[in-house]
Amino acid sequence: MDFAYDARTEELRERLLAFMDEHVLPAEQLAGEQRAALESPWQTPPVVEDLKEAARGLGLWNLFFVDEHGRPGEKYGAGLTNLQYAPLAEITGRSPQLAPTALNCAAPDTGNMELLAQFGSAEQRERWLEPLLAGEIRSAFAMTEPEVASSDATNIATRIRRDGEGGYVVTGRKWYISGAMNPDCKVFIVMGKTDPDGEDVRRQQSMVLVPRDAPGVEVRRAMSVYGYEDHYHGGHAEVLFHDVRVPADHLIGEEGGGFAIAQARLGPGRIHHCMRLIGMAERAIELMCRRAVERSAFGKPLARQGVVHEWIADARVQVEQLRLLVLKTAWLMDTVGNRGAHTEIQAIKIATPRAVVRIIDDAVQLHGAGGVSQDFPLAELWAAARTLRLADGPDEVHQRSLARRELKRHL
Ligand SMILES: Cc1cc2nc3c(=O)[nH]c(=O)nc-3n(C[C@H](O)[C@H](O)[C@H](O)COP(=O)(O)OP(=O)(O)OC[C@H]3O[C@@H](n4cnc5c(N)ncnc54)[C@H](O)[C@@H]3O)c2cc1C
Repeated sequence: MDFAYDARTEELRERLLAFMDEHVLPAEQLAGEQRAALESPWQTPPVVEDLKEAARGLGLWNLFFVDEHGRPGEKYGAGLTNLQYAPLAEITGRSPQLAPTALNCAAPDTGNMELLAQFGSAEQRERWLEPLLAGEIRSAFAMTEPEVASSDATNIATRIRRDGEGGYVVTGRKWYISGAMNPDCKVFIVMGKTDPDGEDVRRQQSMVLVPRDAPGVEVRRAMSVYGYEDHYHGGHAEVLFHDVRVPADHLIGEEGGGFAIAQARLGPGRIHHCMRLIGMAERAIELMCRRAVERSAFGKPLARQGVVHEWIADARVQVEQLRLLVLKTAWLMDTVGNRGAHTEIQAIKIATPRAVVRIIDDAVQLHGAGGVSQDFPLAELWAAARTLRLADGPDEVHQRSLARRELKRHL
């Protein structure tokens, strides 16, 4: 067993670390100032476009991309395996607002690009995948609905009906649709039911592409996340589809294939979140250590208080454990495929957000009032990490499925 990163990964890590130090971290403040001066807070600040251009020039572009055969996507991306991409995604997690977008590796576009590569027709790939890979447009994935428990995809109530002219009519209400507030988000991948009374509850759903400018699409409002609006992610919108008509060729794959496509889409997305979460934890540890040596209370630096040692040591132990599990999962995805890595993908999706929320919370505590303020990134990092116990499947849903698979062996 070799725990070292290979030469290609090491070289890209070095390049990316330099890019983060020289370009991304210094741009964090500027991006905020530029956003405040924009006509709408949902627009992309110009510095983000500069970062994208610089990243592209350095070959730090579409690093995540695995093509339609599940192989490194050399045509568009850097041609990396999941195992090679994992430590790079981790680095981008240090600046989750800017870095993933700068590298064209941000959710939900990454999952949508992989979905289109795997299940899209040639025309769909040309119209939507190409501009997404070029970073010219953004996209959203619309599954969750306020009216039903959406962690169970069989509950989805949005209707996709065939109309008389061979197209489809989409009717429904979605919320927490990430990215949809950004005007650059030009297309929605919408999950709905084409056959709500079908016998097989996993064949009732289909997915269609709905252009943002189709008549009847209403991006109603931005949902907040612990009070944050997540401008950098293009917000999380409530979106209504009022009898929106799309041509038949906007269906992705086949009628009844929506459930299976959703399952396929979420595997890589989950590991990407976990990789970035580890980077977020690393940033919290760094901030915690810096603050602990700089500030004193009751006659000695915080770094010499026992409880602070516990926080720092526990954080380090947990990050090392999580990183190993994420790397093993990435390796399994590369070698036996996403299905073969099912248990490990669920394990990291359960373990990582929980542990990272705790680590960031300790860092907040060490910063006192500063920890919950806007002057440090910790409060926002905490909120982002906490949402990942819900997004892409709540902990309990993964626990249910993992435990059932484990129990099956004994039945
Ligand atoms: C910041 C953010 C971004 C998001 N982005 C998107 C997006 O881009 N697109 C999209 O479609 N959705 C998105 N979501 C929605 C997210 O995927 C859903 O919130 C999630 O799937 C849960 O669905 P729900 O909110 O309807 O919760 P419900 O299904 O109502 O579940 C509520 C709770 O019930 C419990 N529960 C559910 N099932 C079980 C079980 N089997 N056993 C035990 N307990 C259970 C869990 O604790 C769960 O948290 C986002 C959410 C957030 C917070």
